[in-house]
Order: sequence, then structure tokens, then C-alpha cells
Amino acid sequence: MRRKLFLTTLAIVLLTLTLSMLAVNLVFNQQFDDYLTQTTEAKLLELPAQLSTAYETYGSWDQRTLERVARSLPMGTQVTLLDPNGQQIAEFGNSMQGMMRGMRGMLGSNIRPVFKTKNLPVLGTQGELATAVVSYPSRGHALNAQESVFTAAIFRSLLMAGGLALLLGILLSYWTSRRLAAPLQHLTEAAERIGQGQFDQCVSVNTKDEVGKLALAFNTMADNLQKQERLRKQFTADIAHELRTPLTSIRSYIEAFQDGVLPPDAENLASLQKEIDRLVDLSSSLRDLNLAEIGELKLNVQPVDLGNLLNNVLHNLQPLLHEKNLALSWHPPSVPLVFNGDEQLLTQLFFNLLYNAYRYSEANDKITVELAYDSRFVTVYMTDTGIGIAEHDLPNIFERFYRADKSRARKTGGAGIGLALVRQITELHRGDVSVRSKLGEGSTFTVKLPRN
Ligand code: ADP
Repeated sequence: MRRKLFLTTLAIVLLTLTLSMLAVNLVFNQQFDDYLTQTTEAKLLELPAQLSTAYETYGSWDQRTLERVARSLPMGTQVTLLDPNGQQIAEFGNSMQGMMRGMRGMLGSNIRPVFKTKNLPVLGTQGELATAVVSYPSRGHALNAQESVFTAAIFRSLLMAGGLALLLGILLSYWTSRRLAAPLQHLTEAAERIGQGQFDQCVSVNTKDEVGKLALAFNTMADNLQKQERLRKQFTADIAHELRTPLTSIRSYIEAFQDGVLPPDAENLASLQKEIDRLVDLSSSLRDLNLAEIGELKLNVQPVDLGNLLNNVLHNLQPLLHEKNLALSWHPPSVPLVFNGDEQLLTQLFFNLLYNAYRYSEANDKITVELAYDSRFVTVYMTDTGIGIAEHDLPNIFERFYRADKSRARKTGGAGIGLALVRQITELHRGDVSVRSKLGEGSTFTVKLPRN
């Protein structure tokens, strides 16, 4: 990854650099050519006057003077002098020697000079003396020594700037690739450690970009895994205890019966049965929760009268409420409140909530069940004035095997499955369950179910 990033950025740097150097070179050539053409043309404008002076001085065309004029011409210029009848008088020029020298040669350009022609009339005191047909380079100029030095200097600075940019590019791509790849490297190492079972992993989040978001998501995931792992370990310990307590009790009863210490009468058999029921309940709760979690708990949807369903649940728990002298406030709706859902699972849901309200209430506390509805939702509020739940426990109580007050929950026989199942059943009905609670004051569980 780091190598790839480095090579990619380096390739981009190289490409940009080459293209920009080519572009600069091209533009420079063009501009320099234009500049030279303009200089040549300006110089050629002086030619008629020079020729006229040369003629007037000698009264004829002197070859040596013409050669002197020729030497002052811009490089690569050729002149054919014609008399007014069109007869050639002389031909002279500044040779093409040195053409393609200097910068063009160094840059490997293979530009061939392109020539332009101009007819310049040469006027004397008596009228037109001759016409100078001038041919001069308009592109791909020959360079004189000064121009060659200038273009070579430009080319050198271009190369130096390019080299510097390349060096900076290499350093920058090395630094960027390191900077981008380092957090990913840390993430990989942390993920590998999680893979080896070390769940207490956390990577530092230094940026808000995609990598930062990934690190944040990773930390949340690691947190969650750690929590699940803790719950799983806790559960193994709890479940072992939950199984051992009734089993030990059953064994003691049976041993007592065998030894004749206790008579197998109705009362003792009922106690034995209670322990067995506890085991059966535990195993069926576990099974339901498991099925719900792997998505195999199928809803058997049918019209259910919720008022009636709550009546039945309350009726079944009445002896227990009575035993603890708990006051119950419940006003069933006057008309049947029909809801499409799974009767058995809904019974289980409200039973769990009410059973918790009973279990986590002190003697003489109060339980209030309310049912509210409109055309879209049915909402059940289950309130108790019991022991309440500490604020730090609230976010976790719907997790599997989570028990707020371990010693008390153990005494009450809970294994931390009831509320997890409540949440699963509510969600299977596309509903939502929430809790408000204060330690020492009581709790309200709210189940909101959509009607269609
Ligand atoms: P459990 O079988 O242990 O009761 P639950 O999943 O039903 O498991 O509940 C999880 C935990 O939430 C319980 O251990 C208990 O501490 C807390 N809890 C649930 N309902 C109530 C309530 N009505 N009042 C106080 N605490 C409650």
C-alpha cells in the first residue's frame, strides 16, 4: 500500500513535471522566435537607407560596401538587388552559419527555418535606384552568440527547477505515503490482535477524513466486541450458576428421598417440580432468544385483542403481586383493541416486563399498566415504584445476559435474558422499546408498536 502510494504520487509528479517542462519549452521557443522575427524585421527596415547611402557615396554599387552591409544583416538573411528593369545587380547576405546552434541544438529541436520574403524599394535622390528582395527566417532562427548564451541559461534554469521539483516531489510523495499508510498499518495490527483474541484494542483517531472515520468505526467495533466478550464470559459463569442451583437442589431432594430423610409427599414434590420448572423456563428463554437473534423466530401473525392479552398476563401474575402486597393500577380499554401480532410472543413480552416489575419491587410498591393508542400506534406503559435502575446500567439492560444488580438478580433468579427477548419481540413487530428509570424511585418501560 505504502509503496503503491509512493510510486503513484511519484509517477504523477514525473508526468506533471515532464509535461510542464515540454510546455514551457514550446512556449519559450515560440515567443523567442516571434521576438527574433520582430527584431529582424525592424533591422531590415534600415536596409533601404543603408543601400541608398552606399550607392550615393560611390555613385555605383560597390561590392565591398555591399559586403559590409551584408555583415550587418540579421543572421540567415539573403538579399537580391534588382535594378528598376528587374535585372539582378548583386546578391549578398549574412550566411546561415551557426544556424541550429545554441539552445535549439541543446534541446534537440529539429526545427527547420521557415523563410519570409519582402520587396524593399531603394530610393536615391534621382528616384528609385533598385529593389531589394529580402529573404529572412521567420521561424527556426539562427542564434548569435549572445542569444545562444541566453537560451542556454534559460534551459539550465529550467533543468534546475525541474530537478528541484523532482526532489521535492520524491520527498513529498514519501512523506504523504507514510502519513496515509501509517494509520492503516496500525489498524491492521490492531485487527490482527483482535483476531488473536485480544479485544482491548483502540487506535488513535487523529484526522476527520475517511481514515479517521475508519479508525472511529474500528474503535466502536472493538469496544462492542470487548463488551460482547465480557458478557459472554459473564454469561458462562451465570448460566453455570443458574443450572447448578436448581440441579443441586433437585439432587438434594432425591438423596433425601432415597435416604428417607424427607418424605416424597405432595409438598416436597411440588418444591422439586418448581426447581425443574425453573430449568425448563431458562432453557426455553434461551432457545427463544437464540431463535430471535438468528432470525428464525417466525411470527404467527393474527388479530390479537391487546386489552384482553394484558388482562390475561396480569391475571396470571395476580397471586405473586398479591403475595408481595403490590398495588396494581390497570384500566382495560372499553372496546377491543385489535392489533396484528403474534399472540404467544406478545404474551411473553408483557409477561417479562410485568414479572420484572414484580421482581424488582419492594413489598407494598405499586405497578401501573397503561394502554394508549391512536390510528398508527399502540403504546403500553409499564411503571413500577420499585428499586429502579442506575443510570450507568440503563444503556445495557436490553443486552443479553446483562444484569444490573448481580446479587439481587441472582436471588430473584434472573439470568439477564428477559429484556433481551423483550427487545427482540418488539423489533420483530417493527416496534420500539425504551426505559426511563431512577435508582430508588422506580422504572417505566414503554413499548410502542405500529398498528400496520
Ligand atoms: P433478569 O432475568 O436478570 O431480570 P432482564 O433482562 O429481565 O434479566 O433484566 C436485566 C436487568 O435489568 C435485571 O437484572 C435488572 O437489574 C434490571 N431490571 C429489569 N427490569 C427492571 C425493573 N422493572 N426495575 C429495576 N430493574 C430492572
